[in-house]
Formats: sequence, structure tokens, C-alpha cells
Amino acid sequence: MSSPYDRQCQIFSEEQIASLRIGGAILRDCLKHVAGLVRPGLTTLDLDRAAEAFIRERGGIPAFKGYHGFPATLCTSVNEEVVHGIPSDRVLIEGDIVSLDGGVIYDGLYTDSCTSVAVGTVKPSLLRFMAHVEETLEAVIREVVRAGIRVGDISAFIEKRLRKNGYRAVPVLTGHGLGDTLHQYPDVPNVGKAGTGALLPVGTMIAIEPIAVTGSPDVLTADDGWTVVTKDGSMACHYEHSILLRADSIEIIA
Ligand code: MG
Ligand code: MG
Repeated sequence: MSSPYDRQCQIFSEEQIASLRIGGAILRDCLKHVAGLVRPGLTTLDLDRAAEAFIRERGGIPAFKGYHGFPATLCTSVNEEVVHGIPSDRVLIEGDIVSLDGGVIYDGLYTDSCTSVAVGTVKPSLLRFMAHVEETLEAVIREVVRAGIRVGDISAFIEKRLRKNGYRAVPVLTGHGLGDTLHQYPDVPNVGKAGTGALLPVGTMIAIEPIAVTGSPDVLTADDGWTVVTKDGSMACHYEHSILLRADSIEIIA
């Protein structure tokens, strides 16, 4: 199916931006709420139910549920699961790490965001890994992201900063444009070359999402058809924000 945003960035009106802010706030608050619930003994389905109730209560629609047949509100990816983990009766145990990836539709517009959370007490090396990936997202937003750059400027920064601490981005998993749909032009890879790729205009929104692993960046899809896991069993984590590019600033929408 073709959309006007197959090859060009969507530009938002001020009225649409007002709606994006509402949807984004629902999603941010939802992830904060669910992250606060995470503890040993809960299942990933418990987290998913809490997320769905929160989003609907606030007037949003869970964007992932039914997306290409995905059955849940959140993607909950544990340990060596990289992305697209399906919430289930899997019980979280002390020492796990879990990413909570969610999306909201509000007024027909999509927002997308992810955080990763430690379950109880986690190995210090894993905490350092998570902190570095989260700080990489914060740093690229602070130091690089603005209207007028090319997506490769973002990709190169993320790749280099992860590698500096011995971590790797997964090349086949990328950030993306979003708005009228969940995933649209342009792709925003986590590896690449500065000065290359799509030019980002004023008024567009992109999801930036470093998806990192402690070992080899080779991944495969599990038998459920969704869950992407590391081939070598190394650990993964994932942080994501939906960012609006204004003329003289950027705004974290979700
Ligand atoms: Mg996401
Ligand atoms: Mg995304």
C-alpha cells in the first residue's frame, strides 16, 4: 500500500502538533507507570495489561495492538530478546532486563517510545550497558538532532558512541519517521555515515531508537514470528524517543 510518506517526510501543522503532544504525554506517562511496576514475580503479560488499561483510560489507542497482527500493547523483550517480544506468562526474575516498547494513536497520529528496565538487582556490567545506551540516545538528541541534518549524522554518532564502550548497534533494526502511520519515511539507522541519507526538514518527526547488544549484532527471529533475539545469546537493550524537529529547537514528543 502506498502512502504520501513512502518517499517524503511528513510535516505537521500546529494543530497536529497539539495532538501529538497529548498522545506523546499519554505514552510517556504510560511507560513511566509500567516501568515502576517492574519487579521479580510479575509476568510480561501483567505489564502489558497495565499499559493497555493506562492508555485507554487516558483516551489513547494502543498503536501496536493489531499492527501487522501483533497481539499486544507493548513489546516486552527480555535479556537476549532484542525487540518485538510478545507479552506472555513468562515470569520476570531477579537479574533480568526488560525493554518496554509502546505506541499510542491519538487523533489519528502515532507516537512511539521505549525504555529498558532492570528487574530487581542486576549485574553491574548490565547496568553500565543500559546506562550507556540510554545516555547515547540523550547525547544524540542533545548534540546532533535538529532540522537540516541528514539521518546519517544521527546513525554515525550512535554507532561510534556505542562502539567506544564495546557495544554494537543492530544494523537491521532502525528508527523511522512516523505520524499518519507507525513506520514511514525515512529510516533512521543506528549505523551509518555522517552527511548521507535523507535530509530532515523543519516540522517533521522521527523515532530515534538505539538498539544495542553486548556481543555480536547478528540476530534472528524466533519461532513465534515476532521476537528478535541475538544469535549468540548476548544481552540487548533499547531506548527510543519520538522527536519533533522545530525551526530552532527540538521537542521530545514521547
Ligand atoms: Mg518503539
Ligand atoms: Mg520505533
